[in-house]
Amino acid sequence: MPYRLVILLTSTTLAVIFAAVGLYACWQIDARTIIKSAESMAILRGTLTGYVIAQLCIFFVISLSRRQWERRLRENTETIEKLSRHNTLLLEAAGDGICGVDNEGRITFINRAALEMHGYHRDEVMGKNPHHLFHHHRPDGRPYSTETCPFMQTLADGEARTCEESLLRRDGSFFPVKMTVTPIFEQGRRTGVVVVFHDITEQRNRQEALLRLATTDSLTGVSNRRHFLERLDAELARQRRHGGLASLLMTDLDFFKHVNDTHGHAAGDAVLSNFVRVVRQSVRRSDIIGRLGGEEFAVLLPGDGIHGARELAERLRRAFECNPAHIGNVIIPVTVSIGISGLRTDDMTADAPLRRADEALYAAKDAGRNCTVVYDAGSLKADSPSFLRKPESSTATQR
Ligand code: GH3
Ligand code: MG
Ligand code: MG
Repeated sequence: MPYRLVILLTSTTLAVIFAAVGLYACWQIDARTIIKSAESMAILRGTLTGYVIAQLCIFFVISLSRRQWERRLRENTETIEKLSRHNTLLLEAAGDGICGVDNEGRITFINRAALEMHGYHRDEVMGKNPHHLFHHHRPDGRPYSTETCPFMQTLADGEARTCEESLLRRDGSFFPVKMTVTPIFEQGRRTGVVVVFHDITEQRNRQEALLRLATTDSLTGVSNRRHFLERLDAELARQRRHGGLASLLMTDLDFFKHVNDTHGHAAGDAVLSNFVRVVRQSVRRSDIIGRLGGEEFAVLLPGDGIHGARELAERLRRAFECNPAHIGNVIIPVTVSIGISGLRTDDMTADAPLRRADEALYAAKDAGRNCTVVYDAGSLKADSPSFLRKPESSTATQR
């Protein structure tokens, strides 16, 4: 205790001072009369009395300041406890998940919001590695290496990071979060990181809904015209860079106006939806379906040459013919005409293959409908016995 040391040192110093003063006073008088002399006895008494008074004063001052120190210590402790309670309250009340990790990668604190989001109890996570608990693989099943984990990166390099991640719940499901990882410094020394995150599921859903709205056709759910053309342009660019095959189908329902006129617009809509359902069943997941307008749809077949596209188109045409839409008890038979074109490396924009496929589609209409026509090397070849026109004499007619 430092105050005890202070008392000891002060007392010793005072004792030495008073002894020196006493001795000095005695030395001033005759050394032989020192014991008997009333004067010297008075000096001794005076010295001792002075010493005792000084000691009492020191004791009083020290005990007073000791009481002050203790009071201040109590106050400081109370302030620290209050601050600590406030901090805990803030951490627990925060809507964001907050988690502290030490330099060894162990969780040192975690708030209620984080526990609720992850579905864990506090005891199950304290002292554990957050990467191993919440982050060890990605939603698609690929492992998430420790080196690329933002917690671990900030622990390693001390750089703060903000990123979007997917975290694991206790039940193995994922939730998307936006997180900030910040290093913690204590007296200039890095002691760990604090991770603050919030669930962005709703934000993601809203973004996806907006994207869907901007890119898909609301009736059928396939790509809208603008989005389809973007995908076609992207496929052309990919083909120019890497080569390979791709084909384009242009489809148009036959006498569709008649369907609307006979059964009503709602029935027409049902036929359109039924057509898309059949197309989806006939193509691969990687193929792209787009509604270019009205009852005209296009299908982009990456990886397919003319031969494969022709087979697929015929399969699709027959499937649609065999699976008419039902409106109540009424069956609405509709057929489709299809024009096919391959994508070429010299096609600089989507317009070129679209024009060729469109020309083939016109030819299919001209040939009596419900057939497929291929635009191949500048000529038109039909896949239906009803195609009677010679390729050389093909001139597109207005539908
Ligand atoms: P063709 O065999 O020559 O293609 O004849 P068609 O009657 O199919 O051709 P046309 O282009 O004259 O008719 C297309 C019709 O499609 C006209 C339009 O009313 C209808 N249509 C366009 N969009 C929709 C839609 O979203 N729903 C419905 N029900 N009908 C639509
Ligand atoms: Mg039509
Ligand atoms: Mg049309």
